[in-house]
Amino acid sequence: MQPLTLSDWESKAAQLKIEGRAFVNGAYVSAAADTVFECISPVDGRFLANVASCDAADADHAVKVARATFDAGVWSRSSPVSRKQAMLRFADLLDQNAEELALLETLDMGKPISDALNVDVPCASDAIRWSGEAIDKIYDEVAATPHDQLGLVTREPIGVVAAIVPWNFPLMMACWKLGPALASGNSVILKPSEKSPLTALRIAQLAVDAGIPAGVLNVLPGYGHTVGKALAVHMDVDTIVFTGSTRIAKQLLIYSGESNMKRVWLEAGGKSPNIVFADAADLHAAAESAAAAIAFNQGEVCTAGSRLLVERSIKDTFLAMVIEALKGWTPGNPLDPETNVGALVDTQQMNNVLAYIEAGHKDGAQLVIGGERVLQETGGTYVQPTIFDGVSNAMRIAQEEIFGPVLSVITFDSVEEAISIANDSQYGLAAAVWTADISKAHLTAKALRAGSVWINQYDGGDMTAPFGGFKQSGNGRDKSLHAFDKYTELKATWIKL
Ligand code: NAD
Repeated sequence: MQPLTLSDWESKAAQLKIEGRAFVNGAYVSAAADTVFECISPVDGRFLANVASCDAADADHAVKVARATFDAGVWSRSSPVSRKQAMLRFADLLDQNAEELALLETLDMGKPISDALNVDVPCASDAIRWSGEAIDKIYDEVAATPHDQLGLVTREPIGVVAAIVPWNFPLMMACWKLGPALASGNSVILKPSEKSPLTALRIAQLAVDAGIPAGVLNVLPGYGHTVGKALAVHMDVDTIVFTGSTRIAKQLLIYSGESNMKRVWLEAGGKSPNIVFADAADLHAAAESAAAAIAFNQGEVCTAGSRLLVERSIKDTFLAMVIEALKGWTPGNPLDPETNVGALVDTQQMNNVLAYIEAGHKDGAQLVIGGERVLQETGGTYVQPTIFDGVSNAMRIAQEEIFGPVLSVITFDSVEEAISIANDSQYGLAAAVWTADISKAHLTAKALRAGSVWINQYDGGDMTAPFGGFKQSGNGRDKSLHAFDKYTELKATWIKL
């Protein structure tokens, strides 16, 4: 089959039927108050759909539905193998609808269609498939009890899960939660970001088509301060699983303390250091990787390599290589399969990024490439990939998460200084180390306070390894068998023999 062209994608977009209603108990429904918000594409400002703006009444109804479904046991007490089969069908349906899902994602949040199709959708289906595959292979435990006792240590689904997710990888982040949450037998209410609700709404129907019973997966679009908060303070939600900013993550901890002490699992922000030592074996590979680490997904990546720490002796040479590599990342029409940098998610986010570029200038960093809004005539929200040199780690552009394609270059003189700068951050999500010295690589990796460390690469990973943060990047882990801890309660049952 011929790969789709820009005009193929445009004509598919013109024919797309977009569902904007909430999904509760197996059916699309308007918000109780019949309120909507407009979903506008950052690609060119086109109107996409009116989307249900859910509030506390919708949250309450969805929680009742989820609780009733959970208690009825249609899913929560079904056999692991039957849950696995439904999850595998769900994953297959995501793959079979990949073009539609990719198109929705691109139109909704501006990422390049090639990434949506080749990264977001396959990673999302992989998360569902991997978790489904795992669920009939996870065994409980028998405790080391005295002869006249039998101690069973079992894991049970926790009940009603509210999953609140961001807009940068809307489908993938949702599926990192849905995989283990659904496979474990929970009932889920998914709250997508108001900036990117469309794929979450579409996959809710696919879950039902796959045989996951109505009421097990419900989707409530709407704002964070309305429906998001309503779920987070609800007395009958058992756990909140969240991906988003550190600011809102902290708010969720407060909501939990003020309500029913629901479990709160947080995947939050990052300001990840990418450390390049002078003895790196392949500086060209490191430079290509450093450019991708800040430009991929317009820099709207929690693990973006936004602080490039370079050993002083190679700084000038290496920076020249990174600038050259970054020239290969140019904003363009996200529906063009050749485009590798799309639009920022909306005008507000674009203005945030431009304000950080302004802050970089003001704090005395030197702009070496980029720094401007482009393609304004399209009606979209595009910013050039940007590099600041001469950054000190105390500057705002080195401390705060910009969530856009803005790279801060910081110079260091020793391993100790590199580690100290790398760890001088409220965040601890990810880090990378480039060196040919295996001991230096390991010792640096051990010293870095981050949930993921990459050596001689950036952003490696799949479903087999846990993903999450140290410090204010969050708690708990997505992906791998460790993710199941968030969706289950541990029970000890003592039997007198
Ligand atoms: P955000 O915190 O603004 O919003 C995330 C979600 O929380 C949205 O659905 C939003 O509607 C909801 N929300 C907002 N206020 C709320 C409230 N008061 N109560 C309940 N819910 C509320 O984050 P964002 O701008 O959508 O996403 C970007 C952030 O996500 C960045 O900080 C990024 O680092 C982070 N992120 C982290 C990871 C990770 O795995 N660690 C992955 C992707 C993104």
